[in-house]
Amino acid sequence: MSDKAAAAAIPNNLEAFWMPFTANRQFKKAPRMFVGAKDMHYTTAEGRQVLDGTAGLWCCNAGHGRPRIVEAVQKQIAELDYAPAFQMGHPKAFELAARLAAMLPSPLDHVFFTNSGSESVDTALKIALAYQRAIGQGTRTRLIGRERGYHGVGFGGISVGGIVANRRTFGTMLTGVDHIRHTHDPARNAFTRGEPEHGAEFADDLIKVIQLHDPSTIAAVIVEPVAGSTGVLIPPKGYLKRLREICDQHGILLIFDEVITGFGRLGTPFAADYFGVTPDLVTTAKGITSGVVPMGAVFCTKAIYDAFMTGPDHMIELFHGYTYSAHPLACAAALATLDTYEEEGLLTRAADLSRYWEDGLHALKDCPHVIDIRNLGLIGAVELEPIAGEPTKRAFSAFLKAYDDGLLIRTTGDIIALSPPLIISKAQIDELFGTLRAVLHAID
Ligand code: PMP
Repeated sequence: MSDKAAAAAIPNNLEAFWMPFTANRQFKKAPRMFVGAKDMHYTTAEGRQVLDGTAGLWCCNAGHGRPRIVEAVQKQIAELDYAPAFQMGHPKAFELAARLAAMLPSPLDHVFFTNSGSESVDTALKIALAYQRAIGQGTRTRLIGRERGYHGVGFGGISVGGIVANRRTFGTMLTGVDHIRHTHDPARNAFTRGEPEHGAEFADDLIKVIQLHDPSTIAAVIVEPVAGSTGVLIPPKGYLKRLREICDQHGILLIFDEVITGFGRLGTPFAADYFGVTPDLVTTAKGITSGVVPMGAVFCTKAIYDAFMTGPDHMIELFHGYTYSAHPLACAAALATLDTYEEEGLLTRAADLSRYWEDGLHALKDCPHVIDIRNLGLIGAVELEPIAGEPTKRAFSAFLKAYDDGLLIRTTGDIIALSPPLIISKAQIDELFGTLRAVLHAID
């Protein structure tokens, strides 16, 4: 595309769209726009190819523009564009739920559809509270999250979440929420390959909260099995098992927020499979449709579902749902996405590539500014030393330089996060780390 054509592709008014998680006033000075995407690459408005190092926003696990998914959505919109989700249904919603239920580790076997990760989180928190009531444990109203946790942007999600910037602006939060510590421990675990050795005992923070409030007041604990948006924090060996044990001992539900880890990111369908720890509720979104149509889903155990099927009459339904729950386009996209994952072995591909990925990532250790590197499956993080007095600046300049050099990365604070589509080839992994190496050498 010529410079003139590129300029024409960018609208004049960049003010009307108030962008999410973006400083509009900075963006409009140097807009970055994608106009196309295919497989592992985006095309910019200037006609440049950008290697997708982040699967969009951790979501396009099957890559971009996959014909099978495109065709399924096209066919669906022509056939049944919308169907009410309350007291009605359409066959693909039930087909998808059954297909997902069959993929889940037992005893997770029921599915509630939402439209995003944030909605999945708020739904899971509400199911947890309602379940406790349904089984006669209505005093259990407290929710427990973690420092640095990211659970989307609903009021439930920011309340149990622990990212300060996402909370401080808004004042009102849910009451009755406690936070246990995150597990990041660079003094003991820096540059660990895979799961860190040290820190399972961080789970015992939960015991302290239980002792403080009494178990009879606590409904659920929510954690990301691998914390993503806060900068990729891998759980120490044994940590999640320990959390599960403590929850079991005290009648507390365990929720895994698998919005990032679900659908193959770790080389297993879900993180619950990877860690061999099964929570009571799982929140997902993103990879369920490979990001093509917004969709989320909450998975719950038979015990939770049955509490509503056999519980008191006034709880015969959940009194919760969305106009677009199980939207036909999303269901069609999800079914075609699951076909693609299955046919191409994508849900386990991260396991085959993880060693190659890990070696390439950790080879960046000798680059300037690098103070830690973390990885699991096809997730990676490179943490940079912040510039004194200007936190986030160094990583953000890496993001801008990488974009100019044809690589999409994501940054949070001074951490570079990587999570490519699961179709990435070894040559593209080399290219990704080669570009990143050059970027790290080029920035101040
Ligand atoms: N939970 C987790 C763990 C996430 O990573 C995200 C998104 N990055 C969300 C919830 C929120 O998802 P959404 O942006 O689709 O609302």
